[in-house]
Amino acid sequence: MVKVVKFGGSSLASAGQFKKAGEIIHADAKRKYVIPSAPGKRHAKDTKVTDMLYACYELAEAGGEIKPGLRKIRARYNEIINGLKLPLNLDDEFKVIEENFEKKAGRDYAASRGEYLNGIIMANYLGYEFIDAGEVIRFDSSGEFDADTTNRILKERLKKTERAVIPGFYGTKPDGSVKTFSRGGSDITGSIVAKACRADLYENWTDVSGFLVADPRIIENPKGIKVITYRELRELSYMGATVLHEDAIFPVRTEGIPINIKNTNAPEDPGTFIVESTCQKPEYTITGIAGKKGFVAVNIEKDMMNSEIGFGRKVLAAFEENEISFEHVPSGIDTFTVFVHQEEFEGKEQSVLSAIHRLAEPDSIELEADLALIAVVGRGMRSTRGTAGRIFSALAHSNVNVRMIDQGSSELNVIIGVGNDDFDIAIKAIYDIFVETQL
Ligand code: ASP
Repeated sequence: MVKVVKFGGSSLASAGQFKKAGEIIHADAKRKYVIPSAPGKRHAKDTKVTDMLYACYELAEAGGEIKPGLRKIRARYNEIINGLKLPLNLDDEFKVIEENFEKKAGRDYAASRGEYLNGIIMANYLGYEFIDAGEVIRFDSSGEFDADTTNRILKERLKKTERAVIPGFYGTKPDGSVKTFSRGGSDITGSIVAKACRADLYENWTDVSGFLVADPRIIENPKGIKVITYRELRELSYMGATVLHEDAIFPVRTEGIPINIKNTNAPEDPGTFIVESTCQKPEYTITGIAGKKGFVAVNIEKDMMNSEIGFGRKVLAAFEENEISFEHVPSGIDTFTVFVHQEEFEGKEQSVLSAIHRLAEPDSIELEADLALIAVVGRGMRSTRGTAGRIFSALAHSNVNVRMIDQGSSELNVIIGVGNDDFDIAIKAIYDIFVETQL
């Protein structure tokens, strides 16, 4: 049995946190492959090493003095090395890094050093082999992750090693230059490694005990989610639940490898299991609630629209022309609404409106801004009568005006549009009815 374990930045921010991670790894001989992030924040006002590296590299690009910045970064690592009493010296590594910064090796190269150095420390601390991610994680020449090549190389490489540390977040392009995933991307590396070695479990260790039914900034002490399917998670993370990088499920998803989100500071908590499928009923009919503010509804009206073939395509082409992606398209007999991100839309609104007029010749277009979308997600909804009724009566009792309803065709979610101002109240009302009172 093999477990791949990924530790996030706050789990490796100091020697004390490293020790906790070490204890976790040693407590289970199946934890054979370890993916570290760069050191994160030690306290709320601290700076992540990744951000220090970005800042330092910006200075290098501007021709500024980088030595003080690199010295500060080095101090972060030395604090860990000394705290762990390791016989390790990163002088040579920092010499190379300084030279490469001066040679302008790239922003991605700069950021990747956070994980690279933490990987060296972790391997030294555990007595595991160190595998540079640049050797095994591959991107194509346009910078897209190359899943097939990576899987082939990584599989072969892992066969040769019983236990190893592979830094997260980066890999290389065919020309040898370093490329990173987007921020938080060490989660993706963990998933890629789990796939390549066909792990039985991918454990993702962080600073919270898994996913919560709702955002704790809105709901005080929300309940945790014990089991969630990949598809449910996809809906929730798309709508703002941020514990795991949203792309991290793809490599393991096709292999049926479960992910367990665990808390380094409370390892006995069961955390959240993310699985392909389960017959376990969710505790509260709904699995989770998430949402985002800042949408615009573009309401398009045209008499007899329902019988005009191709009307929807013409309208959507206007958004495509302007490189705007749409979120939802609820429609009526003579109306068609397109929900888009306000930020993305604002600068291009007049160009979109004229394109719709040109392509689809509608009678009128109206814009409604400052809307929020809330997703109520749950595999249990399909088999439970009255879920929608409960949601909308809870919203009505809280005086929330519902502006849009869209039940995903998967019957896995109900999307509700409300005014930005009603966002928190709506989430509280839905949480209350399903979790607190369970009426
Ligand atoms: N260190 C990188 C970041 O802060 C990647 C990661 O932690 O996953 O985004």
